Amino acid sequence: MSQIHLDRLDRVRAAMGEQGVDTLLLSVGHDLPYLTGYLAMPLERLTMLVVPRDGDATLLIPRLEAPRVEPQPGVFELEPWDETDDPTAIVGRLAAGSGTVAVGDQMWARFLVELIPHLPAATFRRAVDVVGPLRMTKDRAEIDALAAAGAAVDRIAGALQAGTIPLVGRTEAEVSADLSARILAEGHQKVNFAIVAAGENAASPHHHAGSRVIREDEIVLCDFGGTMDGYCSDITRCVFTGDIDPEVAEAYAVLHEAQAASVAAATVGTPCEDVDRVGRGIIADAGYGEYFVHRTGHGIGLEEHEDPYIVDGNAMPLAAGHAFSVEPGIYVPGKWGMRLEDIVVAADDGPRPVNSAEHDLVSVG
Ligand code: ZN
Ligand code: ZN
Ligand code: ZN
Repeated sequence: MSQIHLDRLDRVRAAMGEQGVDTLLLSVGHDLPYLTGYLAMPLERLTMLVVPRDGDATLLIPRLEAPRVEPQPGVFELEPWDETDDPTAIVGRLAAGSGTVAVGDQMWARFLVELIPHLPAATFRRAVDVVGPLRMTKDRAEIDALAAAGAAVDRIAGALQAGTIPLVGRTEAEVSADLSARILAEGHQKVNFAIVAAGENAASPHHHAGSRVIREDEIVLCDFGGTMDGYCSDITRCVFTGDIDPEVAEAYAVLHEAQAASVAAATVGTPCEDVDRVGRGIIADAGYGEYFVHRTGHGIGLEEHEDPYIVDGNAMPLAAGHAFSVEPGIYVPGKWGMRLEDIVVAADDGPRPVNSAEHDLVSVG
């Protein structure tokens, strides 16, 4: 483990050198576990990794949380602070003289506000420019972890499509609780979300599963995922509770074609925005363009949503090891909605979908 973290820190220091960053400060968020294996508790006491461009990294941690950290000599020095210390003053000392300081996106505003007076000469910028490009490119072990999490949610999607998870007569919230239990039973440590949206509710892409009872002859959209051994899963499948309505079937055929075309377009070297454009074009040509209201996808890894974003305006070319969702949708307000989502890894021999659960709209009952 230490060797992975040492290698990552080396690459981070190289990126800091290229970008003229003197000190990197990471707190709450996933850059910290990426570099150290430790996820800070999202509480009011400051946990902060201080990485000078040249020099040893220090993990400043509340003394009562220090036993949670596995020491990694050579990676970072552990520095516990006491209840009466001012931790931001300690960071100010460790980073003294820094001109440019990069801070993690999810570091709380209060910590940054308290830090500024302790580093009066510093210019602050986002650490995502330093750590993001490294995190985006997954290594073998990370891809294996994404694949394992993906296979787990594929099995749940399979159960949904086989009719093993009862739908009609139950509330969205009950089905969501079912999916959540299965996410844990399939080996995830954490449920990140389990969207269940029936009929007209499916037209709201981030619908919160509620008291709506699922009826016969409607679409049910399920978008769910969790975290397994640090890495996230995320899949969307729709099923229809009866004989599929012809209008829904026609739209779904378009969605299915668009999703497959976007996946196929996700080759190494293709700009992210082109992957979006391919599927969006198919949906627009079929007359549903105004109903596809979000980007095609997001990167995935330690976080459910991270770089690279598959969105118009992102000209960054895909590289081998990039992992992201391809999830076009069609949402007709007041009527129905549908989305089809797989996680895909860009590889030199072509796009490799992590998910393989049936892509058709399946009739259940
Ligand atoms: Zn989403
Ligand atoms: Zn999803
Ligand atoms: Zn997603």
